[in-house]
Amino acid sequence: MSYTALYRKFRPDIFADVKGQDHIVTTLRNQIKADRIGHAYLFTGTRGTGKTTIAKLFAKAVNCENPTDGSPCGECRSCKTIASGASVNVIEIDAASNNGVDNIREIVDEVSYSPVEGKYKVYIIDEVHMLSIGAFNALLKTLEEPPSYVIFILATTEVHKIPITILSRCQRYDFKRITIETISDRLRDLMEKEQVKVEEKALRYIAKTADGSMRDALSLLDQCIAFHFGEELTYDKVLDVLGAVDTEVFARLLDLIRAQNVTGCISLLEEVVMQGRELTQFVADITWYLRNLLLVKTSESDIEDVIDVSNDNLARLKEEADAMDAEEIMRQIRIFSELSGQIKYATQKRILIEMTLIKLCKPAMETTNDAVVARVKDLEEKMEKGIVQTASVAIQSTQAANGNAVAPSKPELPKAIPEDVERIVKNWHSIVAQAQQPLKTHLKKARLSLGGDNRLMVVIGDGVAYDYLSDAENHKHLEDMISNFIQKEVSLQVQSMAQGSRFEETYVDLEQIISREINMEIEEEEA
Ligand SMILES: [Zn+2]
Repeated sequence: MSYTALYRKFRPDIFADVKGQDHIVTTLRNQIKADRIGHAYLFTGTRGTGKTTIAKLFAKAVNCENPTDGSPCGECRSCKTIASGASVNVIEIDAASNNGVDNIREIVDEVSYSPVEGKYKVYIIDEVHMLSIGAFNALLKTLEEPPSYVIFILATTEVHKIPITILSRCQRYDFKRITIETISDRLRDLMEKEQVKVEEKALRYIAKTADGSMRDALSLLDQCIAFHFGEELTYDKVLDVLGAVDTEVFARLLDLIRAQNVTGCISLLEEVVMQGRELTQFVADITWYLRNLLLVKTSESDIEDVIDVSNDNLARLKEEADAMDAEEIMRQIRIFSELSGQIKYATQKRILIEMTLIKLCKPAMETTNDAVVARVKDLEEKMEKGIVQTASVAIQSTQAANGNAVAPSKPELPKAIPEDVERIVKNWHSIVAQAQQPLKTHLKKARLSLGGDNRLMVVIGDGVAYDYLSDAENHKHLEDMISNFIQKEVSLQVQSMAQGSRFEETYVDLEQIISREINMEIEEEEA
């Protein structure tokens, strides 16, 4: 018996089968029922949330001869031609491979001919953010005055890359990530139809792994079924197929981190790698495990409903949670979720994880608030055990010695450098390296200091560079670039340095202060 992928087999034919985007479906159906159809739509949202599915259904519905309650009938000639892919009224374009001006000009020319049959010509442009600027401009003219029989549906995962001129001409719909609940309900329905026996826990695990994408959920489920065709699909089998790690490994890893056993952590990771586990998944799973630990730690009752794990596992979780405190768990969640974001597209996944494990074992290498709390706790424990720490005294005296050596004209040292600013300074070279020309060249001449409101101040001696950066648009671009890098809103001040003056004499040199702090920490480590 040949096997048809679930995703193909169960593509929704009516709006009622589209799950998790009720707000969008309702609005579109109402437009069809009231015959108030727009001419340009923008569908945006993460992958697998139903953008093209809904776009195709919409294209069918507007052309359907007997729509029922805003949904296509599936029976009329138009519905059937569209379903078979033979319709000339529904044109799908993948902008990733057709992103040039000529591709769009072709469409624009075509648009001037009214449909031979049916009411509407529907152009679905997927990945529309990939269009070139020229292509967008060519499209813009048609979007401004579209013929009454034309509908454009633009779909994108990256709405911030769409020019504002295009955005302002579209009705915009934001597709949400689909909840675990909705996904597992849909999977359960389909498995009943397919008469495949499957454990509830297995479905929930797949739904969770799909991370809001129905398409991913279906293809994961496909993989699992194909692997164990004709058998009941259990949780253990799913773990096995998807390369997931048994929770027991997480418990061991956390024990090793708590014992600050770097070697142990690294060899455990080696074990995971040797088992052929997918490392991105590994990180996602351990983050989820920590989330469960935190819930167990902080909730008083009825925890079973929130964290679906077996009773055995729950007992283990409780034991594990007792051994850790909430701050420590939160710190680990933060670090692992940061890692999760970085690792997806990284080529050296294993090294990234190793670095994170070292960071977790050695909180002294970090300067964030969480890390400081971890260090204080570590010190307290050492003091309880009677281990006297002398390194901090040594650092104080170095600081005092430095203080004496400083010339009186030197600007005052800031009391505390905000964490965000510190992160920017530490990563300044990488940030500059990412910039495009001419910004890159200008930034290379800049020095970093602390401005008003404890904002980052970019100090520039070169006149041309200063003119460039004080231009509002370039200034904003730089802020956005840095925000993107540290994943936080950034506001900065651009300052011109008077001619003939020396940076060190007028401004606090953040790069120097922060690199000295890092050195001190390393010394402290070694002491
Ligand atoms: Zn129809």
